[in-house]
Amino acid sequence: MKVGVLALQGAFKLHVKALEQFGVEAIEVRNLENFNSVEALIIPGGESTTMSFLLESTGMFEAIKESSAEGMPILGTCAGMILLSSKITDGRSDQNPLGLVNIETRRNGYGRQIDSFESDLSIKGFDRSFRGIFIRAPLVEKVGSEVEVLAEVNNRPVMCKQGSVLVTSFHPELADDTRIHTEFLEMLSKS
Ligand code: GLN
Repeated sequence: MKVGVLALQGAFKLHVKALEQFGVEAIEVRNLENFNSVEALIIPGGESTTMSFLLESTGMFEAIKESSAEGMPILGTCAGMILLSSKITDGRSDQNPLGLVNIETRRNGYGRQIDSFESDLSIKGFDRSFRGIFIRAPLVEKVGSEVEVLAEVNNRPVMCKQGSVLVTSFHPELADDTRIHTEFLEMLSKS
């Protein structure tokens, strides 16, 4: 199993480490050639504006959309969720979303005062809570009917799934808990 972690920028190292704990071959994806060698992709947290320009200039923007249409499992966390959403508010006007999950996200939408916080999340299908670590997290403002909401904070979705795309507004790689990575790898083994 070869799983890519987008490594253009941002918080990719701990995702690689989490995957390696499962004996999965984790590939740091920096160009189209790296991307073409993987069966699934994690888009980590970081700066979504920078990442979206780098995705376009490397040609990976279109390639990710094509692979997703063919069913490639993709996990997007924090900035990754923003990139995968269908509409971004408070981004740069020339920042294009991948549009693979029908949600609308507002960058840094939890506001400055609480721009980082933690919350024990009750996640659909998990038998005990998961510690959600939110760092300048996106706020999900709208959700399409084809999207399954798996967890919420204050009635706002923080974890969603649409087909083979899973997104979280928090950083699962920072929790001492690999259940979200397990869930993602199960999506890959079933695909
Ligand atoms: N605020 C960042 C952005 O808009 C996301 C923060 C994160 O990934 N931790 O891209």
